[in-house]
Amino acid sequence: PIRTRFAPSPTGFLHIGGARTALFCWLAARATGGQFILRIEDTDRERSTEESVQAILDGMQWLALDHDEGPFFQSERFDRYQAVVDQLLEQGQAYRCYCSRERLDELRARAMDAGEKPRYDGHCRDLEHPPEGVEPVIRFRNPDEGTVVFEDRVRGRIEVANQELDDLVIMRADGSPTYNFAVVIDDLDMDINLVIRGDDHINNTPRQINVYRALGQEPPEFAHVPMILGDDGARLSKRHGAVSVMAWREQGYLPDALINYLARLGWSHGDDEVFSREQLIELFRIEDVNRKASRFDTEKLNWLNQHYLREGDRAQLHEELRWHLARTGLEADAGPDLDELLSVQADRVETLVELVERSRPFFEDFSDFEAGAAKKHLRPVAAEPLKALRERLEALEDWQADALQDAVQATADALGVGFGKIGMPLRVALMGHGESPAINQTLRLAGRERSLARIDRALE
Ligand code: GLU
Repeated sequence: PIRTRFAPSPTGFLHIGGARTALFCWLAARATGGQFILRIEDTDRERSTEESVQAILDGMQWLALDHDEGPFFQSERFDRYQAVVDQLLEQGQAYRCYCSRERLDELRARAMDAGEKPRYDGHCRDLEHPPEGVEPVIRFRNPDEGTVVFEDRVRGRIEVANQELDDLVIMRADGSPTYNFAVVIDDLDMDINLVIRGDDHINNTPRQINVYRALGQEPPEFAHVPMILGDDGARLSKRHGAVSVMAWREQGYLPDALINYLARLGWSHGDDEVFSREQLIELFRIEDVNRKASRFDTEKLNWLNQHYLREGDRAQLHEELRWHLARTGLEADAGPDLDELLSVQADRVETLVELVERSRPFFEDFSDFEAGAAKKHLRPVAAEPLKALRERLEALEDWQADALQDAVQATADALGVGFGKIGMPLRVALMGHGESPAINQTLRLAGRERSLARIDRALE
């Protein structure tokens, strides 16, 4: 079974790329009956925030990506990192480096001028007389020779010559560990056997493998997943709109739709588009993830979201719909049955925001009729048909879609006019404007009391 982890740095919200990595981790663990561990990489004290930790936890919870262990916080493990640093120092596999910022800047500038990759020159490796009064950083003594080789489960075989790597800083002067070091200690201590992460980390992996080896340990397996591009082909960023998971919620997307969409973003199984969580767990293999970056496709997401609005899990639909109603200041209990509302509106909208916007009059009274629509469809043209219809509606015993349809039809027949001659005025009377679901559904959703009162108001 796979033991994997998702290890976000709490320096912002949970974004789409992170959520997809988390999903792949979760799927890999669930598919093999393994464990999914959540670790918060908050060693960077300046940039890590409480709010961001909370945003990540909220995002994971909303997506229902449940973890089996954690969340663990790197900030609580500094003693452990210090102990391993001491061990490496003792073994001569790490050393104190006193180089000043100026010296390092100069090294970098020189390399840049020569068109080379900046690389630490190992100046402090065997320093006999360390300067006084300078707090050193700790560097890892990277092997000078040989090649680091690993089989990435997405990218295939990767080889990097040690000469390309330099002596990595593993602990800052203030005693905080760096990412490349802490991640190794944690993955070891947490018995991780498969690391799944964004391929922006692929250059870090050979360095990390060298640290494992220095500690006499075998590295886990790695799977680096490609990044996500915006629909214009550029790296996904704020510019592309909602990149935080919770912003997708605010825009009216369902967690199951987003999960389905994210899974398909870089992973496929035949030509299918719709996958339930259970199917994903059954079919997902990390090896099948595409090597190439995938483009975000809002249309496809919208299509999936509509699918889940129609056929998704009822409990999730209710919860999300209630959340959106509350956010809009509407009271769920003041309107129609939510399942009925969904079944009528889901064909007409792609998001819950649209759905709620179009359903407002089923929950609260509107302040006035849209002027143009009222002029065209209500007064004085509609007085007679609306009055006639009102009488039939009033006499109806049950407010059911079929009976409502019959009542409107019978009114039209009796007056010798087309259905539309009554339908349009009725729409405006009920909704305040000319847009609504089928007229009998609209009556049904508005409910008896509201419908009659609104017809009266239209007749005033
Ligand atoms: N904290 C790192 C990040 O957010 C994690 C990388 C990893 O999974 O090793 O990019």
